[in-house]
Amino acid sequence: MDGYDRRVTVLMVTDERFLDHRRERSHPERPARLEAVWAGIESAGIAAAIIGREPVPVSDSDLLRCHSDAQLAHLADLHAAGGGQVDLDTYMGAGSWEAARLAAGAGLVAVTALRDGEADVAFCAVRPPGHHATSTTSMGFCLVNNVAVTAASLADAGERVAIIDIDAHHGNGTQDVFYDDARVLFASLHQWPLYPGTGRIDEIGANGGVGTTLNLPLPIGAAGDTYRHGLDAAVIPVVERFNPDWLLVSAGFDGHRSDPLSDLGLTAGDFADLVVRIVGLVPAGRCILFLEGGYDLRALSDSAGATLAAIVGVDHRPEASSGDGPGRDVVDQAAKLHGVAI
Ligand SMILES: [Zn+2]
Repeated sequence: MDGYDRRVTVLMVTDERFLDHRRERSHPERPARLEAVWAGIESAGIAAAIIGREPVPVSDSDLLRCHSDAQLAHLADLHAAGGGQVDLDTYMGAGSWEAARLAAGAGLVAVTALRDGEADVAFCAVRPPGHHATSTTSMGFCLVNNVAVTAASLADAGERVAIIDIDAHHGNGTQDVFYDDARVLFASLHQWPLYPGTGRIDEIGANGGVGTTLNLPLPIGAAGDTYRHGLDAAVIPVVERFNPDWLLVSAGFDGHRSDPLSDLGLTAGDFADLVVRIVGLVPAGRCILFLEGGYDLRALSDSAGATLAAIVGVDHRPEASSGDGPGRDVVDQAAKLHGVAI
């Protein structure tokens, strides 16, 4: 090692076919988002630390760990018809089903590569996003649940999995899939009130999974200081107590203060701070990030670039960290509910 730390490497699972998920009329969840992520990482100057990898389409059996036959048949029928609206917010175009199957398969490719020691961390730069897709319903721009498919595959292989969701919106789909499943811990920091209207503090899991769902519904204007407190006082103690083998992250960047779909106060620097703390919770080779939301192209680009740079140890901060936002009381209340000493 010559006295030098080995540079952290990131496996980036992505594909131009994700750009084929689109429709004629404008929509915030658009192909330019992914191009903004790629550009942000490019401008961070960390190409030497990134290993690119193509995803493989997910199998039906892997999708069926998280989704119903009827839901998948409905998506396949829409695809066969050339696309259409799944609901008011959620569309399929001609290339959407292939993109969704690649997005859901990306995490499984990352698991194999990390197990083989090819990189320290993986980032699945995918679309459509996944965390709103429940076990029966595709919604909120999401067709199938990318992070849940990977978590379910790992859990079925005997691994303990923690999922931390930092998207501005509550990951209702992921929570739904694992709500009574003690093998998977789901922790979410999100704006409240906001779509989809779930994620209250008292949603803590059910049956055998009581205690393995942690929700921090943060008020409008919550900024980096509240998020850092949320990790330190609630999420990290609960994750450490759970002692996961793998850590998956729903990395939505729509909590940025410029994002048109939310009212939070985060900056690119905050995302870098938060993700570095999260990645450090598990040993190298056991953490996979999944792109979820982020709808202001500049903010998304800066946030993704700052985050990936921070993971590999490069100082690239288009924006400083933020502070002075509300919501610490919500964190303290959730920590107390989950038996964490404050
Ligand atoms: Zn979101």
